[in-house]
Amino acid sequence: MHHRYLVVRATVAAGVVLLLIVLAWGGLAWWQARRQATVQLTTLAEEVLRRSAQTRVQVLDVFRHLEAQADAPSCSQAHLDQLRTLAANASYVQGIGVLDGDVLRCASLTELHRPLPLGRPSRLLLGGKVRSWSGVRLDEIPGGRFNVNAAGNYAAFIVPDQVTDVLPPDSPLAIAHIGRGANGWNLIRHRGSLDPAWLRGYAGGNQARTVEGSRLVMRDAGDGETAVLAAMPRAQLQLLWRQALQRTLPFAAAAALLALLALAGLLRRQMSLRAELTRALDNREFYLRYQPVVALGSGRCVGAEALIRWQRSSGPPIGPAEFIPVAEEHALICRITDEVMALVTADAQALVAQDPAAHIAINLSAADINVPRIQSRLQRMIDKAGIGAHNVLVEVTERGLIQPETARDILIAIRSSGYRVAIDDFGTGHSSLSYLATYDLDFLKIDKSFVDAIDSNDPTSTLAFHIIGIAKSLGLQMIAEGVETERQRDILRDAGVQYAQGWLFGKPMSMPELLDYARAN
Ligand code: C2E
Ligand code: CA
Ligand code: CA
Repeated sequence: MHHRYLVVRATVAAGVVLLLIVLAWGGLAWWQARRQATVQLTTLAEEVLRRSAQTRVQVLDVFRHLEAQADAPSCSQAHLDQLRTLAANASYVQGIGVLDGDVLRCASLTELHRPLPLGRPSRLLLGGKVRSWSGVRLDEIPGGRFNVNAAGNYAAFIVPDQVTDVLPPDSPLAIAHIGRGANGWNLIRHRGSLDPAWLRGYAGGNQARTVEGSRLVMRDAGDGETAVLAAMPRAQLQLLWRQALQRTLPFAAAAALLALLALAGLLRRQMSLRAELTRALDNREFYLRYQPVVALGSGRCVGAEALIRWQRSSGPPIGPAEFIPVAEEHALICRITDEVMALVTADAQALVAQDPAAHIAINLSAADINVPRIQSRLQRMIDKAGIGAHNVLVEVTERGLIQPETARDILIAIRSSGYRVAIDDFGTGHSSLSYLATYDLDFLKIDKSFVDAIDSNDPTSTLAFHIIGIAKSLGLQMIAEGVETERQRDILRDAGVQYAQGWLFGKPMSMPELLDYARAN
């Protein structure tokens, strides 16, 4: 059953790890696709900006050239020939026309049947010096639509598509030349399908963003009037994403494999530690060390805490802090407690013979304390050891009280049989005080972390005094753990703590050493 629990937990962990890897893979691929789209769109937009700047240079060149002429524009054949030559030398200028106000009188492109009024200019450029019309049609050139820029009496005809003609045929992308108008930005000319709503909120400048799944890149022309928008529709961006997913699939698979291998290794290690613990119990590889507990008032040794040690047949020793949790998880803790009781049984008589009031403390885990069988186990131990119940102190951590009702009944029964009971590591768990008041207890053991803080200036130092206050109000005696300095001892004694253990008094030692220690103290 515990095997199954472990496997279920490992499966859940594997699931979580795989999910995280898939999320990271998707996120990374999405980031890659977006970056790729941005690079592609920026390249296109910059090409349009380049062409547009070049167009502007050519148009202004043409105007400058024409302005330099002394004689008035005549629309004569010679004049038109000269305009044709000029237009032929400017690659973005298709033709040049002569204006009378905003009425086109003649043009180098074709012979006009009648003068053509252009109407109001669509926009003014270069601070009003250049008037601009878009989508101008000439009846004489069917299907042709031009952008016309005019300065003074001359108009340059530009083929609009040439500037935005940067997309290969069938490209899914869209590109637009956009201009700042009276009410926000609008399209001047564009290729591919795009949504004018994308311009909403644009305030000029360079930017890249994703709107409703489509990637947009804006590049400012720097003239304060125009910019270029390049867009990749959602479907194409998703295609790039899928491609990125495919490209990075081997890495994601490798990461998943490694993570699963690591998890499997961890599981195996747990399983093998369990197997090793079982074998160690069969081989009786455990022994006890006893740490003296002294009365702070007199300095007398009043007892000792039994602490388990594992001498492995092979490999370095493992401390209880590492293997006790594993044993608890794998339902081996009761066997360990049985072993501790057996070892105490062998040792206890010698101590009690020397000091009939001495106690030996044993640590019980949740699995021990929440079943009534603990009563008979303790009884068998004292019977075999030839000691009394009062010679045994049972230490239970707050974690041991996971089923408070059962634990309370069992502890009451234990205590009424004459054993003494201590709450271990007090303050590190989260037992509620109201429960504690209903338990039948003798001692609170103040955890080492509070003792460590007591002679410091940190705020935790006051916690120890708080705990001491709680113990007093519940009428419990106290055992301070992990006392290492005389200063800690003095502060604790002055605060009213009765007992202590720690390296200051004695490290965990063998029973013969403890007997010597107790005799000397
Ligand atoms: P614990 O019950 O709080 O035991 C006190 C731990 O603090 C012991 O570590 C002890 O050697 C150590 N200690 C004592 N005085 C000092 C000191 O002055 N300074 C410092 N730095 N440490 C001190 P240990 O023996 O490694 O035991 C660790 C934990 O393992 C114990 O904490 C207890 O929770 C568990 N454990 C030990 N033996 C048993 C056992 O027989 N059964 C069960 N269920 N748990 C045990
Ligand atoms: Ca303990
Ligand atoms: Ca403790």
